Amino acid sequence: MEASVPPATTRCAQCRAVVADIDGPVHTYVPSAPGCWQIFGEVQANELQRFGYPPAHRLIVDAYMAQHPGDGSDRRDRQSVFAHLAGLYARLELDLAAERAGQIVRRIVSRRADFPILRRDRGPGELTIQHMVGARDQADYEARAQDWAQSVWRSWTVHHSTVAAAVQALTAD
Ligand SMILES: [Zn+2]
Repeated sequence: MEASVPPATTRCAQCRAVVADIDGPVHTYVPSAPGCWQIFGEVQANELQRFGYPPAHRLIVDAYMAQHPGDGSDRRDRQSVFAHLAGLYARLELDLAAERAGQIVRRIVSRRADFPILRRDRGPGELTIQHMVGARDQADYEARAQDWAQSVWRSWTVHHSTVAAAVQALTAD
């Protein structure tokens, strides 16, 4: 019997997760390692199968996108980081329901022509998409999503006030 060769791994440059070193598709302006993007896809497929469309769904998308910023040269990247941070702010700081937070994110995207380049001064936080793998049940899944999202949000402390102001300007309407 041949000894099994452990699969090659690599570190995702954005979230620092150690993932399988594979060739594969990634998002156009989300610079995650293909192995990290693959886990994100698997987590979402598993979530849909087990829980339908749970409140954690959007939080996970916000956490993933905010944890994988590009260099800001692409307007869609700047918009994505800003909008998903707004989603995290709405859920975690304002404690809004998933649907209401989603409305805020859509309004931010539709009302602003451009977005500033936001850069983390720390992070990417101690948890990654891998924290979502292996949840026992939906309550565990929701709790894991909260923990991961909080960790990502903390890594962006330097821009909390900018994001908060943008959201508050919209919710004051
Ligand atoms: Zn990653």
